[in-house]
Amino acid sequence: MDEAVSGDQVLTIGVPAETHLGENRVALVPDTVEQLADLGLSVVMESGAGKGASCDDEAYALAGARVESRPGAVYRQADVIAKVQPPTPSEVALMRPGAFLVSFLDPSRNHETLASLTEHGITAFSFNAVPRTTRAQSMDAMSAMSTVAGYKAVLLAADTIGRFFPLLMTAAGTLPPARVVVIGAGVAGLQALATARRLGAVTAACDARPAVAEQIKSVGAGFIDMSVDLGAAEGQGGYAREMDEEYYRRERDLIREHVANADVVIGTAQVPGARAPILIDEGMVRDMRAGSVIVDLAAEAGGNCELTVPGDAVTRYGVTILGPANVASSLAVDASRMYSHTVGAVLKYVIKDGALDLNFDDEILRAACLTRGAPATT
Ligand code: NAD
Repeated sequence: MDEAVSGDQVLTIGVPAETHLGENRVALVPDTVEQLADLGLSVVMESGAGKGASCDDEAYALAGARVESRPGAVYRQADVIAKVQPPTPSEVALMRPGAFLVSFLDPSRNHETLASLTEHGITAFSFNAVPRTTRAQSMDAMSAMSTVAGYKAVLLAADTIGRFFPLLMTAAGTLPPARVVVIGAGVAGLQALATARRLGAVTAACDARPAVAEQIKSVGAGFIDMSVDLGAAEGQGGYAREMDEEYYRRERDLIREHVANADVVIGTAQVPGARAPILIDEGMVRDMRAGSVIVDLAAEAGGNCELTVPGDAVTRYGVTILGPANVASSLAVDASRMYSHTVGAVLKYVIKDGALDLNFDDEILRAACLTRGAPATT
């Protein structure tokens, strides 16, 4: 078969296999493929693309996709490319000029990829740039992946610490519940609190945005109130804003005792476009009991703990500090299902009557499309 382009005018959505080391997720799961096929769209999957998420080629074929094994063929054939990780510049070079890309793409880090997307006339929809509004909620892949990460962080801690999470009263003695402190109660933090509580831990959290106090309490956690001393650090779009080092120094002093008394600390504090704030310094680690665990979900953004080694686990002063990378990928089946749902929502938003309809007056597209190419030709 000629691999150039399908001869008809049907819009082709392509899902290449992820090449980023350790990436197990896939951009579309068979359920979403079926929905897109029902809309009259053509879907082409690279053979093996769903393997890490336990979706085999046969399931995709049954859902109505065409499966391609030729290297680069998916990129060359698709009008729309759906990916998880940002494409590499060499992957971008394979794309059709005017193609529409949907993936994660960090405007503050992926400069080379963005330059190459611009050069090749690709319109790139980035999940990192979707506004946090009610209208865009179904496209909020960042929140979906933060939910996965928050849940998994607790499991990592439970698997590392040498003690139970719940209070146990047994004939062999009474064991007190683990104390879990979460720093940053956004999407990941709230999920971590809820998960730790379901395992029986006693939980507490702080956030630079005092407005989240009610949400912290709603998942059964104690609220570490820093607002009186620090004031609000609420920024735009529901995020925290970057504060100066003096703010963070005072914050560390305020939470020092809570961290020292915790068995598990989960750091999730991030500020968009900036290095994650250091909220656990070396002295605070030294003050923790030996055997305690820190899970630093902000590791990829530099880490909330001064001693975190991104992508690695280290033990300092008897405390194990985990700095996991790409946590969502380790729960690839459900992470892919959630991600695929958000990709499906984007595609249904931009495809009208079987063709791409990109209206850049729309606030979601204006914010999320980091590059704009010429309209795709089918
Ligand atoms: P994030 O991953 O950028 O940060 C995680 C948390 O860390 C945030 O709650 C932030 O306030 C907190 N933080 C930052 N600096 C801190 C510091 N110095 N000390 C303590 N905590 C600190 O954020 P996120 O979880 O992706 O989202 C943040 C918020 O955005 C959500 O809680 C929600 O209010 C809002 N949101 C809204 C929508 C929507 O309306 N559709 C969707 C998703 C999120």
